[in-house]
Amino acid sequence: MQFFDLHCDTLYEIAKDGHSLSKNNLHVDLERGLEFECWAQAFAVWMPDSIRGEEAKQQCLRIIKMAHMEADRNSKFHIIKNKNDFDIAFQNRTCAAILAVEGGSALAGSLETLETLKELDVKIITLTWNGSNELGHGCLSDCDEGLTDFGKNAVNKMEALDIIPDVSHLNQAGFWDVMDIASGPVIASHSVSAAIWNHKRNLTDSQFEAIRDRCGLVGLNLCGEHLGKQDFETFERHLYHFLSLGGEKTLGFGCDFDGTELPAEWGGIQVMHRLYEYLQSKNYDNYLLYRIFFGNCYDFFLSFL
Ligand SMILES: [Zn+2]
Repeated sequence: MQFFDLHCDTLYEIAKDGHSLSKNNLHVDLERGLEFECWAQAFAVWMPDSIRGEEAKQQCLRIIKMAHMEADRNSKFHIIKNKNDFDIAFQNRTCAAILAVEGGSALAGSLETLETLKELDVKIITLTWNGSNELGHGCLSDCDEGLTDFGKNAVNKMEALDIIPDVSHLNQAGFWDVMDIASGPVIASHSVSAAIWNHKRNLTDSQFEAIRDRCGLVGLNLCGEHLGKQDFETFERHLYHFLSLGGEKTLGFGCDFDGTELPAEWGGIQVMHRLYEYLQSKNYDNYLLYRIFFGNCYDFFLSFL
């Protein structure tokens, strides 16, 4: 099976504790990921709400540079610069790694930082994490206002630089501001359904439909707090609901590996083989599963990059 995942926090964990990317006890390592026939993985640099300004920017740049150093010395880790890189990565059975930043605080309030991130091959920026930053307000902040003027300018500049705006974690008003401002596709890299489990991190039906209508992507996550119950049955209810909204070309995965707790028996990225088999046993057809596990995200990036 082929697997394309829109969100993990593994880089942050590696930077913090010095694990090896090749083999570790985290949710994601290259050894397990490369058991998939083809594997593309977005690696996000998580920006905690406790740091802001120049400190946030420098921490982000340090971790992204660490990822590039890893790619320079590790032939199994290939950072995607343009769409041709997917073929190179898949033919050589290496990880097609997409760099992302989870939290616009990494910009330190300056649009110029976006150019630096572009040069470092960052393809996705999640505008906020749970709290407020210079761009807007996360869904767990106390503020229900929309994007700041800086946030609106940042979305425009991201689009000009072909960096995809990611609305996971954003509050409602901010979400609809992004939909007003952005002219191209928008993604929610790791979000499930508020209709199935009413959590502020989850997408309402109208949010999902807005992303669908703009040919964006929604990556389903495996976070227990967001699913309601962390088991395959509950996960399938979220999937089924989004499919009932016409999401067959919108859905992918953004599991949130190394950003959330998983049941011990799931282990990490290896659980995807079992989840695939579970969905087959529930009569999901192989083509639809191909699209959700890989094809929708792959097609999106081929047309976007
Ligand atoms: Zn997250």
